[in-house]
Amino acid sequence: MAATAEMPAHVQMVWGRLQEAAPTYLVGGAVRDLLRGVPAHDWDLATVLEPESVIAIAARYGWRTHPLGLRYGTITVTVGQSMSVEVTTLRAEGDYQDQRHPSQVNFGVDILRDLGRRDFTINAMALPWTGPLVDPFGGKKDLQRHLLKAVGSPAARFREDPLRMWRAFRLLSQLGRDWDLDVMVNQAIGQLAAETKTTSYERRREEFWRILQSLDPLPGLNGLRNSGLWSYWWPGFHPSPQDWATSQRQIAQIQDPVLRLASLVWSCDVPSVTRWLTQGTFSNVIKRRVENLLALRKIDWMAVQPQELRSLARRHGVDVLLDGYQLAGSPANPRITLELKRLADHPQSLALACNGQDIMAWANIAPGPNVRHWISLLEHWIDQDPRRNNRETLQTYVTQKASQTRQSGR
Ligand code: ATP
Ligand code: MG
Repeated sequence: MAATAEMPAHVQMVWGRLQEAAPTYLVGGAVRDLLRGVPAHDWDLATVLEPESVIAIAARYGWRTHPLGLRYGTITVTVGQSMSVEVTTLRAEGDYQDQRHPSQVNFGVDILRDLGRRDFTINAMALPWTGPLVDPFGGKKDLQRHLLKAVGSPAARFREDPLRMWRAFRLLSQLGRDWDLDVMVNQAIGQLAAETKTTSYERRREEFWRILQSLDPLPGLNGLRNSGLWSYWWPGFHPSPQDWATSQRQIAQIQDPVLRLASLVWSCDVPSVTRWLTQGTFSNVIKRRVENLLALRKIDWMAVQPQELRSLARRHGVDVLLDGYQLAGSPANPRITLELKRLADHPQSLALACNGQDIMAWANIAPGPNVRHWISLLEHWIDQDPRRNNRETLQTYVTQKASQTRQSGR
């Protein structure tokens, strides 16, 4: 099995070398995705080798190692610039003291126990280098019948780590509309949603972000909302049924996760969105983009004039404006569509055809805040009529206006 067309060469290589030393399995999402015939995006190996041996083998082949989770036996092995594989030493289950990491780690215990610690049956299969799939919980069957089922009792597993409830909805979004949650999983989430209060914001944000990045975020988003998980994350979020329906329609047509996020919170006030994004550990880049988009809600797209549009594009950027127009969901306004398209195709048309040096020479002024004044004035002037944006016209305008100012100042 080791060599399949879908598996990147670096994964095969690391797996093969570790396997030469001791039994090593492919585990987790990659096995699930290989069996489904979809591309896997991260690769996890489970090995009988101790972390130190993994590091020694990697060193022999010139691969870098990053002992990120060394305490728990996980090492990232990187081949070349950025091709990574996570290698975890097989371990037994201990108590779940902090709901994340087993408190006790015994290396070298067999693969079945490793799989028993995993969340859902479809994620709890292991592929050995040779021989049949190790599938103690019927993951392959659940994969065929499109059923997301917990390994063991869902209630017990969700109490151990409440994030698994979020993961259920994230997986549902990634897997597709024809997938179902097992009845017991659904029931357990209904009973235990409040337990997620103790789960870190960062981990919930990661799962949420994966929902927004998935092909179809709607099953996940609806699941989070209907199950009550969302209300333990952001209690103040109560979109009206109509706003929720609008977001859903838009999200189905948008790919960019940040736009999807902005669409979701389109009806919320900016300060509460900012508070939520901050507490939710979203990056500043995402936060700023969402805030900028929400700021565009005040534009009346049916009434806005082309000159206003140009100055808005200058302030916010044409791309942001295009996104804001899409999210506003106003009826298509051909005039606006045309002007935005023109600006997107010719962003340089917003740049003044002269610079500060020119202005100082033409207006006969020294460097200083005056130059900035002139630039704003000229930008405003060309926004009224973009044909004015050429050196000759600008020079004539500046020279005349400067001399008028001097005369009236006398
Ligand atoms: P993706 O393909 O989107 O990365 P994934 O299933 O690989 O999905 P990861 O978060 O990368 O998800 O986790 C890798 C594997 O680790 C899972 O398939 C699962 O077996 C196990 N796992 C991850 N988080 C948990 C958890 N909270 N509880 C139990 N098992 C988990
Ligand atoms: Mg993964």
